Amino acid sequence: MEALLADRHEQIHRTGEQPFTLVCNKDSLAGAVSQRACVFCGSRVVLYPIADALHLVHGPIGCAVYTWDIRGALSSGPELHRLSFSTDLQERDVIFGGEEKLYRALIELIDRHSPKGAFVYSTCIVGIIGDDLEAVCRRVEAEKGIPVIPVQSEGFKGNKRAGYTAACNAMARIIGTGDTAGISPFSINILGDFNLAGEIWMIREYFERMGVQVVANITGDGRIADLARAHGAALNVVQCSGSTMDLAKIMEERYAIPSIRVSYFGIEDMAQSLYDVADHFGDPEMLEKTRKLVKEELARIVPQLQRYKEALAGKKAAIYVGGSFKAFSLVKAFRLLDMQVVMVGSQTGTEQEYRELAEITDPGTIIVDDTNPLELTSFLEEKEVDILVGGVKERPIAYKLGVGFCDHNHERKEALAGFQGMLNFAEEVYSSVMSPVWRFAMRTKDRR
Ligand code: SF4
Repeated sequence: MEALLADRHEQIHRTGEQPFTLVCNKDSLAGAVSQRACVFCGSRVVLYPIADALHLVHGPIGCAVYTWDIRGALSSGPELHRLSFSTDLQERDVIFGGEEKLYRALIELIDRHSPKGAFVYSTCIVGIIGDDLEAVCRRVEAEKGIPVIPVQSEGFKGNKRAGYTAACNAMARIIGTGDTAGISPFSINILGDFNLAGEIWMIREYFERMGVQVVANITGDGRIADLARAHGAALNVVQCSGSTMDLAKIMEERYAIPSIRVSYFGIEDMAQSLYDVADHFGDPEMLEKTRKLVKEELARIVPQLQRYKEALAGKKAAIYVGGSFKAFSLVKAFRLLDMQVVMVGSQTGTEQEYRELAEITDPGTIIVDDTNPLELTSFLEEKEVDILVGGVKERPIAYKLGVGFCDHNHERKEALAGFQGMLNFAEEVYSSVMSPVWRFAMRTKDRR
């Protein structure tokens, strides 16, 4: 199979079989039907959970439909984010320009929904015809008195990572505009958690138990007003670093806010994240509260994990996720269940992240950047995996091959972060791998 797509060779590595080399962060191979999303989609998934903002897609209706309700991001209040608005550009607009249509759409939607702010996404066709989003947004902002932010996310101008950068640049325009009075010296912003299935509520609760104030969720269950005062926090705690590290860097430059990278997936990484925050503040009382918290949570979940561990020991797992940072936690989580990871890949990993993955994975593990259905299929068959962890685009590939599946992407409905999340993850992996349905769905290699 790898011979079929010779141009993809340099984006595939097998641990231990040759010195590490892997090319990444480049445009997808034309015709390979990449699993990766476009620039616009990249920025849409980052900004989507800001629940009291209007999200208007300036482009053809298809771009808006593609990203409609794209994350399982829950809100504790308004749910404006769940609606997808589009200027529905037509042939006439492409010829004569869509600025006036965009202006009218913004005025109508702001009058109708009274949002606290608006994000206007640029799509491929807008980049081609050259509509001046900045000018339209400035005009509406002056008339309506709310932030109206253009997101420069033309789909063709790079890969999904460029969309993350566009989203960070858009948020950076709001940060710094609010009042920071009353913010504790022990305060953080949570960057890179998107409140899928309510995960940020669990994480916030841990921080509150430690005595840490959370100023802004960026962006799960996010609010425009919280973003505006996020520059008052003492520390940025960054998960999903691919999507929000750019924003942390901007905030460090502008407001001297340091950042740390964390992961809330798996027992080890979750506990380490809390300890890292406590260590940063260096408060003995906070450290003691953190120890107590971790001890209590472990005492609750470890005995329950045992049952799954016994059943799953020796089973094989493949991982294909959006950002490779999450893959590290998943490798550790599978090890905790005594399972073997035989393939790991991502849409947007960096060379350094892949190198570190190669260091922690077993010999023979396939490391892959920006894969496609053909490759994934061949890897799953070659390694005879029992479960694939991925997102909505990978699910049918697994099921067609008669392989179990766990959704760990932004559409998921099960909370997989935090200590409880590890237990949920084990339960989901167990349910899929051990399902009796596999007795009736023959694996493809057995059909031949
Ligand atoms: S922005 Fe471009 S690549 Fe992305 S969904 Fe729209 S048309 Fe497709």
